[in-house]
Amino acid sequence: NKIEDDYVMGEALGKGKFGSVFLCRSKATGVEFACKTLPKGEETVHKEVEIMQHLSGHPGVVTLHSVYEDAESFHLVMELCSGGRLIDEMTKEGRYSEHKSANIFKDLMLVIQYCHDMGVVHRDIKPENILLTASGKIKLADFGLAMRIANGQSLSGLAGSPAYVAPEVLTGDYGQKADIWSAGVLLHGLLVGVLPFQGDSLDALFEAIKSMQLDFHSEKWQSVSKLARDLLERILTRDVAARITAEEVLSHPWMMFYTERTL
Ligand code: ADP
Ligand code: MG
Ligand code: MG
Repeated sequence: NKIEDDYVMGEALGKGKFGSVFLCRSKATGVEFACKTLPKGEETVHKEVEIMQHLSGHPGVVTLHSVYEDAESFHLVMELCSGGRLIDEMTKEGRYSEHKSANIFKDLMLVIQYCHDMGVVHRDIKPENILLTASGKIKLADFGLAMRIANGQSLSGLAGSPAYVAPEVLTGDYGQKADIWSAGVLLHGLLVGVLPFQGDSLDALFEAIKSMQLDFHSEKWQSVSKLARDLLERILTRDVAARITAEEVLSHPWMMFYTERTL
Protein backbone atom coordinates (compact mmCIF):
# COMPACT_ATOMS: atom_id res chain seq x y z
CA ASN A 1 0.00 0.00 0.00
CA LYS A 2 0.94 3.59 -0.51
CA ILE A 3 0.75 5.91 2.46
CA GLU A 4 -1.98 7.96 0.74
CA ASP A 5 -4.13 4.81 0.54
CA ASP A 6 -4.11 4.38 4.29
CA TYR A 7 -3.75 7.89 5.73
CA VAL A 8 -5.01 11.41 5.14
CA MET A 9 -2.22 13.93 5.57
CA GLY A 10 -2.74 17.02 7.71
CA GLU A 11 -0.77 20.00 8.89
CA ALA A 12 2.99 20.14 9.45
CA LEU A 13 4.00 19.37 13.06
CA GLY A 14 7.67 20.05 12.77
CA LYS A 15 10.68 20.27 10.57
CA GLY A 16 14.03 18.66 11.25
CA LYS A 17 17.39 18.48 9.57
CA PHE A 18 16.43 15.85 7.04
CA GLY A 19 12.69 15.53 6.88
CA SER A 20 9.34 16.92 7.81
CA VAL A 21 6.75 15.63 10.22
CA PHE A 22 3.04 15.87 9.44
CA LEU A 23 -0.12 15.09 11.29
CA CYS A 24 -1.99 12.21 9.60
CA ARG A 25 -5.16 10.24 10.21
CA SER A 26 -5.82 6.57 9.55
CA LYS A 27 -8.61 6.12 7.00
CA ALA A 28 -9.48 2.79 8.56
CA THR A 29 -9.74 3.81 12.21
CA GLY A 30 -9.79 7.61 12.27
CA VAL A 31 -6.87 7.59 14.74
CA GLU A 32 -4.33 10.41 14.37
CA PHE A 33 -0.58 9.80 14.04
CA ALA A 34 2.57 11.73 13.25
CA CYS A 35 4.27 10.92 9.94
CA LYS A 36 8.00 11.62 9.56
CA THR A 37 8.94 11.73 5.89
CA LEU A 38 12.60 11.18 5.08
CA PRO A 39 13.96 11.55 1.56
CA LYS A 40 15.70 8.52 0.10
CA GLY A 41 19.45 8.50 -0.09
CA GLU A 42 19.49 9.04 3.65
CA GLU A 43 20.81 5.61 4.54
CA THR A 44 20.36 6.12 8.28
CA VAL A 45 16.60 5.68 7.99
CA HIS A 46 16.96 1.87 8.26
CA LYS A 47 18.90 2.26 11.48
CA GLU A 48 16.39 4.76 12.87
CA VAL A 49 13.54 2.31 12.16
CA GLU A 50 15.44 -0.67 13.53
CA ILE A 51 16.30 1.13 16.77
CA MET A 52 12.73 2.38 17.28
CA GLN A 53 11.49 -1.19 16.87
CA HIS A 54 14.18 -2.46 19.24
CA LEU A 55 13.06 0.08 21.88
CA SER A 56 9.31 -0.41 21.45
CA GLY A 57 8.89 -1.96 24.89
CA HIS A 58 9.00 1.29 26.87
CA PRO A 59 6.19 3.81 27.36
CA GLY A 60 8.69 6.69 27.28
CA VAL A 61 9.79 5.96 23.71
CA VAL A 62 7.72 7.26 20.79
CA THR A 63 6.09 4.17 19.26
CA LEU A 64 6.67 3.43 15.59
CA HIS A 65 3.36 2.26 14.15
CA SER A 66 4.22 1.46 10.52
CA VAL A 67 6.65 2.29 7.73
CA TYR A 68 5.93 3.07 4.08
CA GLU A 69 8.33 3.41 1.18
CA ASP A 70 7.75 5.08 -2.17
CA ALA A 71 10.02 6.22 -4.98
CA GLU A 72 11.31 9.33 -3.20
CA SER A 73 10.85 8.77 0.52
CA PHE A 74 10.35 6.69 3.59
CA HIS A 75 7.37 7.52 5.81
CA LEU A 76 7.52 6.65 9.48
CA VAL A 77 4.05 6.59 11.00
CA MET A 78 4.46 7.21 14.71
CA GLU A 79 2.37 7.69 17.78
CA LEU A 80 1.20 11.33 17.91
CA CYS A 81 2.56 13.46 20.74
CA SER A 82 -0.02 16.20 20.73
CA GLY A 83 1.48 18.10 23.69
CA GLY A 84 4.30 19.45 21.51
CA ARG A 85 7.99 19.73 22.34
CA LEU A 86 9.54 20.17 25.76
CA ILE A 87 11.67 23.04 24.38
CA ASP A 88 8.56 25.09 23.63
CA GLU A 89 7.17 24.47 27.10
CA MET A 90 10.54 25.47 28.60
CA THR A 91 10.61 28.68 26.58
CA LYS A 92 7.15 29.58 27.87
CA GLU A 93 7.84 28.55 31.45
CA GLY A 94 11.28 30.18 31.82
CA ARG A 95 12.36 28.20 34.88
CA TYR A 96 10.78 25.13 36.38
CA SER A 97 10.24 24.45 40.06
CA GLU A 98 12.50 21.75 41.51
CA HIS A 99 9.45 19.57 41.94
CA LYS A 100 8.45 19.86 38.29
CA SER A 101 12.07 19.56 37.08
CA ALA A 102 12.55 16.40 39.12
CA ASN A 103 9.40 14.75 37.80
CA ILE A 104 10.34 15.48 34.19
CA PHE A 105 13.96 14.47 34.77
CA LYS A 106 12.95 11.23 36.45
CA ASP A 107 10.83 10.21 33.45
CA LEU A 108 13.66 11.19 31.11
CA MET A 109 16.19 9.16 33.11
CA LEU A 110 13.90 6.12 33.15
CA VAL A 111 13.71 6.13 29.37
CA ILE A 112 17.44 6.84 28.97
CA GLN A 113 18.22 4.00 31.38
CA TYR A 114 16.04 1.73 29.26
CA CYS A 115 17.87 2.79 26.05
CA HIS A 116 21.23 2.18 27.70
CA ASP A 117 20.15 -1.20 29.07
CA MET A 118 19.06 -2.08 25.53
CA GLY A 119 22.52 -1.16 24.20
CA VAL A 120 21.46 2.10 22.55
CA VAL A 121 23.09 5.53 22.79
CA HIS A 122 20.62 8.22 21.67
CA ARG A 123 23.28 10.88 20.92
CA ASP A 124 20.81 13.72 20.46
CA ILE A 125 19.21 14.25 23.87
CA LYS A 126 17.80 17.80 23.90
CA PRO A 127 14.39 19.30 24.58
CA GLU A 128 13.66 19.61 20.83
CA ASN A 129 13.61 15.81 20.75
CA ILE A 130 11.54 15.30 23.88
CA LEU A 131 7.84 15.39 23.11
CA LEU A 132 4.79 15.52 25.32
CA THR A 133 1.56 13.56 25.18
CA ALA A 134 -1.85 15.17 25.56
CA SER A 135 -1.65 14.40 29.29
CA GLY A 136 1.86 15.89 29.64
CA LYS A 137 3.92 12.68 29.82
CA ILE A 138 7.29 12.84 28.11
CA LYS A 139 8.24 10.71 25.11
CA LEU A 140 11.77 10.44 23.77
CA ALA A 141 11.80 10.94 20.00
CA ASP A 142 14.23 11.27 17.08
CA PHE A 143 16.42 8.19 16.98
CA GLY A 144 18.04 9.46 13.78
CA LEU A 145 21.49 9.66 15.39
CA ALA A 146 21.06 6.73 17.78
CA MET A 147 23.52 3.85 17.67
CA ARG A 148 23.50 0.34 19.06
CA ILE A 149 26.72 -0.58 20.79
CA ALA A 150 27.84 -3.86 22.27
CA ASN A 151 29.06 -4.06 25.86
CA GLY A 152 32.39 -2.32 26.25
CA GLN A 153 32.31 -0.95 22.70
CA SER A 154 32.65 2.77 22.14
CA LEU A 155 31.75 5.30 19.48
CA SER A 156 33.74 8.05 17.82
CA GLY A 157 32.85 10.97 15.62
CA LEU A 158 31.09 14.20 16.39
CA ALA A 159 27.32 13.82 16.67
CA GLY A 160 24.54 15.72 18.35
CA SER A 161 23.72 19.35 18.96
CA PRO A 162 26.60 21.65 19.93
CA ALA A 163 25.23 23.04 23.21
CA TYR A 164 24.37 19.56 24.50
CA VAL A 165 27.41 17.66 23.30
CA ALA A 166 29.58 15.95 25.93
CA PRO A 167 33.28 16.88 26.15
CA GLU A 168 34.42 13.34 25.34
CA VAL A 169 32.38 13.45 22.11
CA LEU A 170 34.55 16.41 21.05
CA THR A 171 37.83 14.70 21.76
CA GLY A 172 37.62 10.95 21.39
CA ASP A 173 35.75 7.77 22.22
CA TYR A 174 32.44 7.83 24.01
CA GLY A 175 29.42 5.75 24.94
CA GLN A 176 26.21 5.87 26.94
CA LYS A 177 27.54 8.46 29.40
CA ALA A 178 27.44 11.08 26.62
CA ASP A 179 23.62 10.96 26.88
CA ILE A 180 23.85 11.60 30.63
CA TRP A 181 25.88 14.75 30.01
CA SER A 182 23.35 16.02 27.47
CA ALA A 183 20.55 15.32 29.93
CA GLY A 184 22.52 17.32 32.51
CA VAL A 185 22.67 20.29 30.15
CA LEU A 186 18.90 19.98 29.85
CA LEU A 187 18.46 19.77 33.63
CA HIS A 188 20.48 22.98 33.97
CA GLY A 189 18.06 24.56 31.49
CA LEU A 190 15.06 23.40 33.51
CA LEU A 191 16.40 24.61 36.84
CA VAL A 192 17.88 27.98 35.89
CA GLY A 193 16.27 28.76 32.54
CA VAL A 194 19.51 29.00 30.56
CA LEU A 195 21.97 26.46 29.20
CA PRO A 196 25.28 26.05 31.05
CA PHE A 197 27.72 26.27 28.15
CA GLN A 198 27.59 29.13 25.69
CA GLY A 199 29.87 30.85 23.24
CA ASP A 200 29.85 33.44 20.46
CA SER A 201 31.21 30.87 18.05
CA LEU A 202 31.22 27.08 17.81
CA ASP A 203 34.87 27.06 18.91
CA ALA A 204 34.08 29.21 21.94
CA LEU A 205 31.15 26.95 22.84
CA PHE A 206 33.27 23.80 22.55
CA GLU A 207 36.00 25.44 24.63
CA ALA A 208 33.43 26.17 27.35
CA ILE A 209 32.21 22.56 27.24
CA LYS A 210 35.77 21.31 27.63
CA SER A 211 36.85 23.59 30.44
CA MET A 212 34.27 25.95 31.96
CA GLN A 213 33.42 25.36 35.61
CA LEU A 214 29.86 25.86 36.82
CA ASP A 215 29.57 28.89 39.06
CA PHE A 216 27.10 28.03 41.78
CA HIS A 217 27.76 31.36 43.51
CA SER A 218 26.02 33.33 40.80
CA GLU A 219 22.64 34.93 41.43
CA LYS A 220 20.63 32.43 39.39
CA TRP A 221 21.64 29.54 41.66
CA GLN A 222 20.57 31.10 44.93
CA SER A 223 17.04 29.70 44.75
CA VAL A 224 18.20 26.22 43.71
CA SER A 225 18.68 23.49 46.34
CA LYS A 226 22.08 22.10 47.33
CA LEU A 227 20.84 18.66 46.35
CA ALA A 228 20.12 19.83 42.81
CA ARG A 229 23.55 21.43 42.52
CA ASP A 230 25.16 18.25 43.81
CA LEU A 231 23.36 16.14 41.20
CA LEU A 232 24.24 18.54 38.41
CA GLU A 233 27.91 18.45 39.41
CA ARG A 234 27.91 14.66 39.33
CA ILE A 235 26.36 14.69 35.85
CA LEU A 236 28.42 17.51 34.29
CA THR A 237 31.67 15.81 35.28
CA ARG A 238 34.23 15.66 32.49
CA ASP A 239 35.81 12.50 33.91
CA VAL A 240 33.54 9.97 32.20
CA ALA A 241 34.28 7.19 34.68
CA ALA A 242 33.32 9.47 37.57
CA ARG A 243 30.11 10.73 35.89
CA ILE A 244 27.05 9.04 37.31
CA THR A 245 24.89 6.58 35.37
CA ALA A 246 21.14 6.84 34.70
CA GLU A 247 20.53 4.33 37.48
CA GLU A 248 22.56 6.39 39.95
CA VAL A 249 20.75 9.58 38.93
CA LEU A 250 17.46 7.86 39.72
CA SER A 251 18.56 7.06 43.26
CA HIS A 252 20.18 10.45 43.96
CA PRO A 253 18.73 12.24 47.03
CA TRP A 254 17.44 15.13 44.88
CA MET A 255 15.25 12.68 42.93
CA MET A 256 14.10 11.01 46.11
CA PHE A 257 13.19 14.31 47.73
CA TYR A 258 11.50 16.14 44.87
CA THR A 259 9.66 13.47 42.89
CA GLU A 260 6.18 12.25 43.67
CA ARG A 261 6.00 9.00 45.45
CA THR A 262 3.95 6.43 43.60
CA LEU A 263 3.02 3.11 45.13
P1 ADP B 1 14.77 15.43 12.95
O1 ADP B 1 15.56 14.18 12.97
O2 ADP B 1 14.72 16.00 11.58
O3 ADP B 1 15.17 16.41 14.03
P2 ADP B 1 12.47 14.71 14.60
O4 ADP B 1 12.17 13.27 14.69
O5 ADP B 1 13.15 15.34 15.77
O6 ADP B 1 13.24 15.01 13.23
O7 ADP B 1 11.11 15.51 14.32
C1 ADP B 1 11.14 16.91 14.02
C2 ADP B 1 10.03 17.62 14.76
O8 ADP B 1 8.76 17.07 14.36
C3 ADP B 1 10.05 17.45 16.28
O9 ADP B 1 10.88 18.38 16.90
C4 ADP B 1 8.59 17.67 16.62
O10 ADP B 1 8.27 19.05 16.61
C5 ADP B 1 7.86 17.02 15.46
N1 ADP B 1 7.54 15.61 15.77
C6 ADP B 1 8.34 14.54 15.58
N2 ADP B 1 7.76 13.40 15.97
C7 ADP B 1 6.54 13.74 16.45
C8 ADP B 1 5.45 12.99 17.03
N3 ADP B 1 5.52 11.67 17.18
N4 ADP B 1 4.35 13.68 17.44
C9 ADP B 1 4.30 15.03 17.29
N5 ADP B 1 5.29 15.78 16.74
C10 ADP B 1 6.40 15.16 16.33
MG1 MG C 1 15.04 16.17 16.08
MG1 MG D 1 17.21 13.52 13.95
